[in-house]
Amino acid sequence: MHMDVYDVAETWSRDRIASTQLVRLKSTVAQARKCAFYRQRLDEAGITPDALNHIDDIRKIPFTTKQDLRDQYPLGLLTVPTQEIVRMHCSSGTTGTPTAICHTANDLNWWSDLMARCMYMVGVRREDVFQNMSGYGLFTGGLGIHYGAERLGCMTIPAGAGNTKRQIKLARDFHTTVAHILPSYALIVGERLREMGEDPHDFPLRIALVGAEPYTEEFRKRIEDLFGMKVYNSYGLSEMNGPGVGFECLEQHGLHIWEDAYYPEIVNPETGQPVPDGEIGELVMTSLCRQGMPILRYRTRDLTRFLPGECLCGRKHRRMDRILGRADDMMIVKGVNIYPMQIEQVIMGFEEVGKNYLIQLENDGFGDVLRVKVEIRDEYFVEDMRQLHKVQQKIARALKDEILVTPHVELVESNSLPLSEGKAVRVHDLRAKK
Ligand code: AMP
Ligand code: ZN
Repeated sequence: MHMDVYDVAETWSRDRIASTQLVRLKSTVAQARKCAFYRQRLDEAGITPDALNHIDDIRKIPFTTKQDLRDQYPLGLLTVPTQEIVRMHCSSGTTGTPTAICHTANDLNWWSDLMARCMYMVGVRREDVFQNMSGYGLFTGGLGIHYGAERLGCMTIPAGAGNTKRQIKLARDFHTTVAHILPSYALIVGERLREMGEDPHDFPLRIALVGAEPYTEEFRKRIEDLFGMKVYNSYGLSEMNGPGVGFECLEQHGLHIWEDAYYPEIVNPETGQPVPDGEIGELVMTSLCRQGMPILRYRTRDLTRFLPGECLCGRKHRRMDRILGRADDMMIVKGVNIYPMQIEQVIMGFEEVGKNYLIQLENDGFGDVLRVKVEIRDEYFVEDMRQLHKVQQKIARALKDEILVTPHVELVESNSLPLSEGKAVRVHDLRAKK
């Protein structure tokens, strides 16, 4: 496949991006046809590399779904002999058959370069000490980011997830300046520092790469204010390698998608038809540089929109908005469609609110009940009941304005809601059990 000078691709013109995409799409289709699954799919749709004359012809290619990947588990989508494969990862989905993605050495090379590109873009340099506070193992946020940081030349600390006390010690002892961390975990580390009587501002971190799960602008601000550092949104998914697919630049206004390596589309989740720029839909991604297991038009289930216009930074790679949620996350409460991020956006705007919250859906025998449990910061929790009641009313009213359903807001003490080591579980739906 094509081995260009990757760092140059970051500043390519639109024309250069578009012409390269068509060439790479053709070779990706040729590569995909080496496995029986895609050969049959593409034959049914009459797609050969020669049938693709314009990048928009990609729309003639059938979608690939999560179910397709499950059906082909473990090695059905391989397009190289197994001895060419040097690594596999799994998607972090917890239910059903996992989806496995296999990489050649060349694939890993690309991935590391893309990840290094993201980090360099936001000011990470080889002088930085980088601590990866996300889980290793099958999760791509571990090794995927690790190799990017090493490629950049940072001293890289593979701290892994959890064990907050040790994270803090490592960061202090080695003067960690950049971290990769889940949004939910960033607030936990900050709170632990405070409990230890320390000001998180004195912590050496200056940049955090934060992603792997949806979070709102309000949540970002909280992390930035807590540590006095910059937080950049990092998006990726195992099916497209992992992190390094989309990343915010210094403007912090949308994530540039590295279009030399991935072809993004945003479609109406019901019809599969493209939506106009600026409109929300489901992100669909095609890998353009992968040899071991190319994936065509993958339905990510992630909801976002293309941001119209050009970024002030000058890069021409298109930007997508932060992920607003997953199509599967939509809750229907009393007939109203609600996304968890709408709730987070409201509650994280209140200074009384602590680091964690939980949305619980119940049925009281008459209908749906939306319960929102919100941790309150210690300094507010000691206040008298009337004050707390006021806070509760304030939050409930603001939520009602946003989601149009009256929630039961429950204020709880900090550290009383369950924490997950990996991605945060924001919603418990107890309705089916009634
Ligand atoms: P995985 O299966 O572990 O590869 O996780 C990929 C999924 O994590 C994506 O499809 C998104 O739903 C989610 N994700 C990753 N990065 C972000 C991000 N920056 N914002 C929101 N969701 C994200
Ligand atoms: Zn930019």
